[in-house]
Amino acid sequence: DVPLASRVGEVSPSLTLEIAAKAKAMKADGLDVCSFSAGEPDFDTPSHVVEAAKRALDDGKTRYGSAAGEAELRSAIAQKLNLDNNLPYNPENVIVTNGGKYSLFNLMQVLINPGDEVIIPSPYWLSYPEMVKLAGGVPVIVPTTSAQQYKITASQLQDAITPQSKLFILNSPTNPTGTVYSQEELEALATVIVNNDLLVVSDEIYEKILYDDAEHISIGSLNPEIFARTLVSSGFAKTYAMTGWRVGYLAGSEKIIKAMTSIQSHSTSNVCTFAQYGAIAALKNPLSEKAISEMREAFTERRKVMLEVLSTVPQLSCSKPYGAFYLFLDISQTGKTSLEFANQLLEEQQVATVPGIAFGNDACIRLSYATDMNTIKNGLERLTKFVQGI
Ligand code: PLP
Repeated sequence: DVPLASRVGEVSPSLTLEIAAKAKAMKADGLDVCSFSAGEPDFDTPSHVVEAAKRALDDGKTRYGSAAGEAELRSAIAQKLNLDNNLPYNPENVIVTNGGKYSLFNLMQVLINPGDEVIIPSPYWLSYPEMVKLAGGVPVIVPTTSAQQYKITASQLQDAITPQSKLFILNSPTNPTGTVYSQEELEALATVIVNNDLLVVSDEIYEKILYDDAEHISIGSLNPEIFARTLVSSGFAKTYAMTGWRVGYLAGSEKIIKAMTSIQSHSTSNVCTFAQYGAIAALKNPLSEKAISEMREAFTERRKVMLEVLSTVPQLSCSKPYGAFYLFLDISQTGKTSLEFANQLLEEQQVATVPGIAFGNDACIRLSYATDMNTIKNGLERLTKFVQGI
């Protein structure tokens, strides 16, 4: 029996994996499972992106590249951040990473000392606290409720700050709630961050997936003081249906980018070289805009159906998502915990969801609508039946 390093014990086992494995086994047994558990768009990567990567392979872009990323991609990302987000970054302020996930993981490695506190509003993307712990830091979870549309307020942030606070993790649009912070709300948070000389990492990976009149604003664009304290983490996975490509990035001060490049050079090295050429095409080819709006239209239609059907079930409630492709459904009136609800729903009606406890909220379950309309209609019918039978 091999004794494992103590840090392994620090990381929570994934509750969601258990349910996902059960759903998979049921499918393999031939059962008709309706899955709302996907964390990725159900669309193919746009063909012009695929073609660019194929061309890169033919052109011999198959060797080691510079650890921080291909110069052309770093420069295209810096340009995008300037134009789309009003963030005055240069290519030297950008590192290309193995997905948005590694950009955040690496950032924790360069910023967090043992005992440093990182403030995370809940519900949160489940990897944030684990990344903080793996860097020796202490996640400080600040709960938010549906009554506040799951947005941390400036006074909640202020109250969570201690002399050990180093970083605040902001994610808008948010996974799992779909909430989107307004300019006013961001300004209030920015004031607290600046006044307390805190850093903020803004995870903007869902920035293009927006509904109704929602607008994405980068907190770093508000003023030079907050810009100096902001790191932006993002990637190509969600916007361009490129989850398996593993291309993400982080933008920030040159000092941080250099430190992250050093860590990256001893861990993952460069992101797959030809995949980076696909990412360049995603940013530069005007066809991407069309692909994004087609995806957004499909998500919009599905969201509408989801909200319509779910509003007819009295025991359920959810706050309207304005971004991403998730619906965070409050099931607390059924008297069940999120894990009980998700497990029984899967066993009795073959509907797969993610229990909210995985995101730090036991009153809800997460339904992804990155799935086809048939699954949505069929799955919601079964979910309704399940709730009526409780
Ligand atoms: N941030 C959030 C909020 C996410 O939901 C995800 C993926 O699920 C990521 C970051 C990381 O995505 P990737 O590593 O695939 O770029």
